[in-house]
Amino acid sequence: MDYSKICKVYEALENTSKGLEKTDILAKFLGEIKDNPNFIYLLQGRLFADYDNRELGISTQLVIKAIGKAAGISDEEIINKFRELGDLGKVAETVLGKSKKQTALFTKKLSVEKVLENLQKLPTLEGGGTVDKKVGFIVDLLHSSTDNESKYIVRTILNDLKIGVGSGILRDAIVMHCFSPKNLSDKKVCAIAVQEAYNKATDFAKVLEMACNDTLEKIKLEPGKPVKVMLFPKAKNVEDAFKIIGKPAAFEYKYDGFRVMINKSEDGVVKIFTRRLEEVTKQFPEIVEYVNDNVTAKSFILDSEAVGFDAKTKKYTDFQAISQRIRRKHGIFEMQKKLPIELVIFDIIYHNGDNLIDSTFIKRRKLIEQIVREEDYKIVLAKQIITDNTEEVEKFYAQALDDNQEGLMGKDLDAPYKPGSRVGYAVKLKPEDKDFDLVITGAEWGTGKRAGWLTSFNVACSNDGELLEIGKVSTGLKELKDEGLSFEEMTNMLGKLLIETKGTKIKVKPQIVITVKYQDIQKSPTYSSGYALRFPRITRLREDRGVNDIATLEEVETESN
Ligand code: AMP
Repeated sequence: MDYSKICKVYEALENTSKGLEKTDILAKFLGEIKDNPNFIYLLQGRLFADYDNRELGISTQLVIKAIGKAAGISDEEIINKFRELGDLGKVAETVLGKSKKQTALFTKKLSVEKVLENLQKLPTLEGGGTVDKKVGFIVDLLHSSTDNESKYIVRTILNDLKIGVGSGILRDAIVMHCFSPKNLSDKKVCAIAVQEAYNKATDFAKVLEMACNDTLEKIKLEPGKPVKVMLFPKAKNVEDAFKIIGKPAAFEYKYDGFRVMINKSEDGVVKIFTRRLEEVTKQFPEIVEYVNDNVTAKSFILDSEAVGFDAKTKKYTDFQAISQRIRRKHGIFEMQKKLPIELVIFDIIYHNGDNLIDSTFIKRRKLIEQIVREEDYKIVLAKQIITDNTEEVEKFYAQALDDNQEGLMGKDLDAPYKPGSRVGYAVKLKPEDKDFDLVITGAEWGTGKRAGWLTSFNVACSNDGELLEIGKVSTGLKELKDEGLSFEEMTNMLGKLLIETKGTKIKVKPQIVITVKYQDIQKSPTYSSGYALRFPRITRLREDRGVNDIATLEEVETESN
């Protein structure tokens, strides 16, 4: 397929802000990629399925270099143009347009296959000369593209197509294309089926293919391939919790660590994924050891929390204390000794070839009680009581807080497991409820003493895959590195994610998730969510979380009432 075809779709999508029109445009186009369902990744501005975390390893600087090389002009000139236009895609379109006029007659039409082939090679490159090779593949594409195509190639590399297509719109387009629903309720039923299939597969190409063949129900969990975790809404108090999850219910400690899904496939290979589907097996060799020694099953997918504890006092520590282990790729053995973790198992969704997401929570819990041999400070089950008595729950709640944990999780005994959904099959009970996990979408450079650092951050919640800003936050970070998360660290992290720059303001790829405490929520026309946080303050960097884990507009609305 000619790449220009998909670029026309991008343009049409960019030219409308209406969700329904976007859905229509996409639904029509999906008919054209029947034989190549993985072209759908390009509509997401991606090259691989969502479960696949391969990174292109291309920084903004490298893209600047590639555009400069392709156009035969200096990096400085590209940077100046970037300042002027604020979008590297447009920069490529402009500067390459000028340089390509002479060679246009000799270029062949660029195909989608070639774009995918060149860009999919980028993560595989390793060792000496990698940077030059990467630049080479990009230059090759830019040379064979028209101006308009080069704009979208650059935007794809930066994973920011600017076409306003979130996962919700893509899901609806699959519904329209594959099922042509006759009315609204039909449409809703199909959307739920497609969403559930996506939550298991985490791969729109597979969902498109199966939806078109009417075999969505055949999508299965496969250990070794990460699956989205189930998410939980908040309950206001114990009574409210009982209302949502029924009586009697299970209550468990809400451990303050980070979530890991532990997969063991039939061939005995153990893989560990975070809730943002990132593989962290290398960082946590002890988890592999604990499950191999203490879980008697051939294959499984366990849902669990890795919780830090103090090596000397054996007291539980908070998430922040062990968060550095998620990124750390060297000195693993030392880290393991310095920041030990205990693995707390709280659910299972796959066991010896059986898919358990439709069996009840109580059955799943019984199963983990059978197959996990508990060993303190290595692997245990979540502490649990089953009761219908409010007082008993409150006592347990106080005990959890005394044990340095965040609160309780209340769980519906009869509920199934819904990957990727925030359903009331379990609820969280925490005393400090006024915070949200939000993603940083932009930032502003500081002045005076803080010049050279990004000091104010735009944060967003999500609505069906679309990011909506909810305020700016500039307090909570430290000036000195040793005191905690600092402006300097944040500036370095965001610098790598730069996609747009305008005066003192920048936009970044939405990847950094932070916990923001606030005093109040107000209605506000200033931000696209329609709400603004009052007195926001950054309290944590959530390395374990991604853009799919942030607060939803619905939660913001609920909290604002
Ligand atoms: P929150 O991070 O506030 O959205 O709360 C949900 C998170 O609590 C889950 O994603 C888990 O990482 C964590 N958690 C801790 N203990 C449990 C438990 N017993 N059951 C389920 N989730 C738990």
